[in-house]
Amino acid sequence: MLNRVLVGTPANEDPLTHYAELPARAARFADWPQWAHPAAVRALDEAGVRRPWTHQAEAASIAASGRNVVVSTGTASGKSLGYQLPILTALAVHPRATALYLAPTKALGADQLRSAQELTDSENDLRAIYPCSYDGDTPTEVRQWARANARWIFTNPDMLHVGILRGHERWAPFLRNLRYVVIDECHYYRGVFGSNVALVVRRLRRLCARYGADPVFVLASATTSEPGAAASRLIGAPCEEVVDDGSPHGPRTVALWEPPLLQHVTGENGAPIRRSAGSEASRIMADLVVEGARTVTFVRSRRGAELTALGTQRLLAEVDPDLPERVAAYRAGYLAEDRRELEAALADGTLLGAATTNALELGVDIAGLDAVVVAGFPGTVASFWQQAGRSGRRGEGSLVLLVARDDPLDTYLVHHPAALLDKPVEATVTDPTNPYVLGPQLLCAAMELPLSDDEVRAFGAWDVLTELAEHGLIRRRGHGWFVGAETNPHAALNIRGGIGMQVAIVDGGSGRMLGTSDAAKAPSTVYPGAVHIHQGESFVVDELDLDDGIALVHPENPDWTTSAREVTDIVIEDWLEQSTFGEVTVGLVRVEVSNQVIGYLRKLHSGEIVDAVDLDMPVQRLDTRAVVYTVTPELLMRAGIPPDRFPGSLHAAEHAAIGLLPLVATCDRWDIGGVSTALHRDTGLPTVFVYDGHQGGAGFADRGHAEIVRWLDATREAIDSCECTAGCPSCVQSPKCGNGNHPLDKDGAVLLLTAVLLELRSP
Ligand SMILES: [Zn+2]
Ligand SMILES: [Zn+2]
Repeated sequence: MLNRVLVGTPANEDPLTHYAELPARAARFADWPQWAHPAAVRALDEAGVRRPWTHQAEAASIAASGRNVVVSTGTASGKSLGYQLPILTALAVHPRATALYLAPTKALGADQLRSAQELTDSENDLRAIYPCSYDGDTPTEVRQWARANARWIFTNPDMLHVGILRGHERWAPFLRNLRYVVIDECHYYRGVFGSNVALVVRRLRRLCARYGADPVFVLASATTSEPGAAASRLIGAPCEEVVDDGSPHGPRTVALWEPPLLQHVTGENGAPIRRSAGSEASRIMADLVVEGARTVTFVRSRRGAELTALGTQRLLAEVDPDLPERVAAYRAGYLAEDRRELEAALADGTLLGAATTNALELGVDIAGLDAVVVAGFPGTVASFWQQAGRSGRRGEGSLVLLVARDDPLDTYLVHHPAALLDKPVEATVTDPTNPYVLGPQLLCAAMELPLSDDEVRAFGAWDVLTELAEHGLIRRRGHGWFVGAETNPHAALNIRGGIGMQVAIVDGGSGRMLGTSDAAKAPSTVYPGAVHIHQGESFVVDELDLDDGIALVHPENPDWTTSAREVTDIVIEDWLEQSTFGEVTVGLVRVEVSNQVIGYLRKLHSGEIVDAVDLDMPVQRLDTRAVVYTVTPELLMRAGIPPDRFPGSLHAAEHAAIGLLPLVATCDRWDIGGVSTALHRDTGLPTVFVYDGHQGGAGFADRGHAEIVRWLDATREAIDSCECTAGCPSCVQSPKCGNGNHPLDKDGAVLLLTAVLLELRSP
C-alpha cells in the first residue's frame, strides 16, 4: 500500500522521512483464574472470549486480590475484561456488593454499559446486578430506580461530582457496599480537568471510608509513559501497572511523511511554508481508495475533515465516477446512531474512505481498517496510537501514515521516529495540589461532610483552607470545618470548565451556549474576530464582554484560522527548585505573568498568511508556575553568539521549546506560553521561561523541569533538522508570537541549546 502512495507522489518530491515494519504479534493466552466465578467465565465465553489474554488475566487478578491496578495497553486489546471479570465475580458472590464505572465521554460509557448488560443478561447468577447508566440524560424515575436497585452504575466524573457525592446520603447503601471503581481511558484526565477529577476521586474515597468501604480502583489507559505513577496521582493511592500486552495484531507499516515546501508561496517574514497536511492527506487517501483499501483519515477540525473528504472525492472523480460516493466526511459528533451507521458502512465496504475529527477516537467500534492516515500529529503519542490501532485486519498487513503539519513538534516526530515508535516519554500530567483547583473542591468536600484537620492535611490543603476561612467561606465548629448551608459550592464548580471566573460562549443568533472559557484566557481565545471551533463546528466571535462574562459568536466557515498575538511580561515570585550546572541554572519558579493580546493573525488553510489585525485588549494577570533556565553571556559568546544575536537566539529557542513541551507532558501548545530576554531583571542574565497558562499551574511546567534535558535536546533537534534556512513555522516561528516572529535567529538557537545541553550533561 505504501508503494501505491509513493507511486502517486510527484517525481520531484521526497516526503517519506521514515518507515518501519512492525512485525505481527501472536496472542499470548492465560487460563481463567481460579478465583473467577463460573457464571462470569461462562458469560464472557458466550461473548466470544474463549481464554483471556495474559494482560487481561494479570490485571483482573491484581484487582481481585484487592490492589489498585492500571492496565495500559493498545487499542482493541480488550482492556475491559480486566475489570469485568473481578466485578462480575464479586457481585455474583456478594449479593449486596456494588461497582461504579466512570467514562470521560458518553459514547464510551454507553458502549461499556451495553457490553455489561449483555454479560449480565446471559447468566442467572449475574442477572441481579442490573447495570444502569446514571448521567445528565437519565430521567428522574430511572434515577430513583437505579439508586435503589442497580449494583453497577455507569456514569462520568461530572455526575459523580454534582449528582452522587453531593447527595451522598441517598447513595449510602450503594457507597457502603462499593467494591470496585473503574476509571476508563484514564489518560484522558489531564491538565486542569484531570486535577479536578483527581480531587473528585479523593472526595469519593473519603465518603466511602466514612461508610466503611474501601473500593479497589481498576483503571484503563492508552499506552503512556509511567501509567502507574499517573494513575496513583489520579486516585491518590498506590496503583500497580500492567503494560505487557498479550493481544495479537497483524503486521503494520508505519510511515512518516513531511509535505514539501510550497514553491511560490511564502509566509510571515518571507519564510517558506509547507503544503497543508489536509490536502496532502486527500491525495494519499485517494490513492489508497483506488487500491480498494479501507481507509480512515484523522484530521484536527471538522472543517478540515470536510475539506479532506472533498479533496479526495475530486481526485477520485477523475479516475472512476463511481468512487467519490464511497468516501465521506464523518461529522456526526457523538450521536450513537450515526456512529453505528458509519461503523457498518466501513465494515461491509460500502464506504472505502472516511475523513473524521479526533472525536472518533474514543468509544467507536472501528477496527480492522487497511489504512489509517493521521493528518497532523493529534497532540499526544497516546492519541496517535489510539488512532493507529484502528488499522489491521487479523493476520493481514496494514498501513499507518502520519502526515506532518507545519509545526515544530510534527517536524521533530517525522525526523525522530524513535520518539513515536519506541517507548513514549510523555506522561499524563495533573496537579491536584493547585490551590486554584483545590479551593472550590475543598468547599464541596466540607459541604458533603465536615472536614477534620487530618483530612485537610491529607488533601495537602492547609494553606488553601486558611485562606478560605479568612474570607469567611469555611468555618470551624467543634472539631470540624463547615460551609454555610446557604452556599452551593457544587453548582459553582464545573470540573471541565477550567479555573476561576468563566466566560460563556454563546451563539448570538440561536442563544445556544456552546461552552465556556476561563476569563483569564478569554482575551487570547475568544477575542472579536477569532474563529472558534466547537466540536468541529466553526464560529466567528462578534463581541467579547469581560464584565458580563459573555462572548457572542455566529456560525461561519471562513477560509482562514486565527491566532492571537500577545505580549508578555513575567516576574519571578519564588524559586521552588533551582540547580546550577556550570554557567547554566535551571529552575521551577512561581511567577506572575502579565499578558496582553495586541491583535491576531489570519491564516489560510494552505498556510498562507492573509493579514494581521490589531486589537486593544486589557492586560490579564496569571499567577502560575514556570520552568526557567539562565545562561551567562560569556557562555553564549564562547558558543559563537555575539551579543547582538542574543535576543534572536533566545527567542527562537523559546518558541521551539513551547512547541516541543507536549512531547514530555500531555499538553497542547496553547496551554503554555513563554518569555525570553537577553537580560531579565530578576535573574540579571539571559533567560528563557516557559510557563503554564492556567492559574496556579496544571503541572506542565513541573514536567518540563523534571525532563529538561530530554525536552531541550528534542527542541535542539527539531530546529536543527528543519530544512529551511532562516526559520519557518516548522521550527522556530510561533503562530502566537506578539512580536511578529522578530527577531528570530535559527542558527543561534541551535548554538545556544547545544551549549546549554553540554553544561547540563557535564558531570
Ligand atoms: Zn524551519
Ligand atoms: Zn515570540
